[in-house]
Amino acid sequence: MIISKRVAATRSIIDNQRDSGLKIGYVPTMGALHDGHLTLIRKSKAENDYTVCSIFVNPKQFNNLQDLKKYPVSVEKDIELLEAEKCDLLFLPNQEEIYPNNFKSTYYELGHLEKILEGHYRPGHFQGVCQVVDILLSIIHCHNLYLGQKDYQQCMVIDKMIEMRGHHTQTHIIPTVREKSGLAMSSRNERLNSSEKLLASEIYSVLKWIRYNLKAGSLSDIKKTAEEKLLLKGFKPDYVTITDTKLNILEEWNGNDQTVALIAAYLNEVRLIDNMTLN
Ligand code: AMP
Repeated sequence: MIISKRVAATRSIIDNQRDSGLKIGYVPTMGALHDGHLTLIRKSKAENDYTVCSIFVNPKQFNNLQDLKKYPVSVEKDIELLEAEKCDLLFLPNQEEIYPNNFKSTYYELGHLEKILEGHYRPGHFQGVCQVVDILLSIIHCHNLYLGQKDYQQCMVIDKMIEMRGHHTQTHIIPTVREKSGLAMSSRNERLNSSEKLLASEIYSVLKWIRYNLKAGSLSDIKKTAEEKLLLKGFKPDYVTITDTKLNILEEWNGNDQTVALIAAYLNEVRLIDNMTLN
C-alpha cells in the first residue's frame, strides 16, 4: 500500500491510475478503523481496480472541542488493517495540507438537512463534513465513493454536496456493520467500557422494537415509548424519530411509504447514533 501525505502527489498518483483505465473506489474515514470501515474497503476492492482510503480527523466537523480532543487515533494499527485488506493507497494528510493558511471556507446550502436531527444538535457539523469531503473529492477523483448507512443523514448531505459541486462520482451506501450484540460499530465505541458497550446495544433493541411495533396512524406514542425505554436504561436521548427516506420527519405513517427510525443518545459522556429502515 502506498501511503501519501501530500495533496499534489496523491492527486497525481490517482489521476495516473485513472488515465491508465483503472476504476477508482474511495473510502473517506477519520481513522480508528473497525470492521465497519473495512467492510467499505472490501466493497470498494470488489467493485473497483484501485482502492483509496483517507484518514483525516476533520476539525471543522466537530462542534465540540472536547469531542475532537477525545476522538480516538490509532494510525499505526489502521495502516496494518488497511495493508491486510490490500488497500492500494492511503491518503494521510495533516491539517495544513487540507486547510492551508490562505484557506477560505465554502458555504453549502443544505436546506432542511442542516436544520434537523444531527444538523440541529451539532450546529456547523454538516458544513464541516461538506467542506472536507468536497476538498477530498477534488483530490481523489474516484468513480465510486463508499459511505456507511450508520451516518444516514451524512450520506444525504454528501449526496447533495456532490450534486451541487458537480463531482463526478457515484455514491454507494453500505448497510451498518454491527457487533454481535447489535451495537453499531463506531470509533466512538472505544470510549465505552465493557458494561457501557453492552448497555449501548439497547439502542439497536429499541430500533428493532420500533420496527416491530410500527403501525399506520399517529407515530407519537411509539416515539414516546421508545424514548422512555432509553431513558429507563440511563441514556439521555437527543432524539428518537421516524422519517421518510428523505429525512422528512413523520407524525403519521400511511402504512405504505418506506420509513426510517433514527436515534441519537448520550450514554454517559459518549454520544451514539444509529438508524434502521423500518419496512
Ligand atoms: P468515520 O471514520 O466515522 O467518519 O466513518 C467513515 C465512513 O465509515 C463513513 O462513511 C461511515 O458512515 C462509515 N461507517 C462508520 N461506522 C460504520 C458501520 N458500523 N457500518 C458501516 N459503515 C460505517
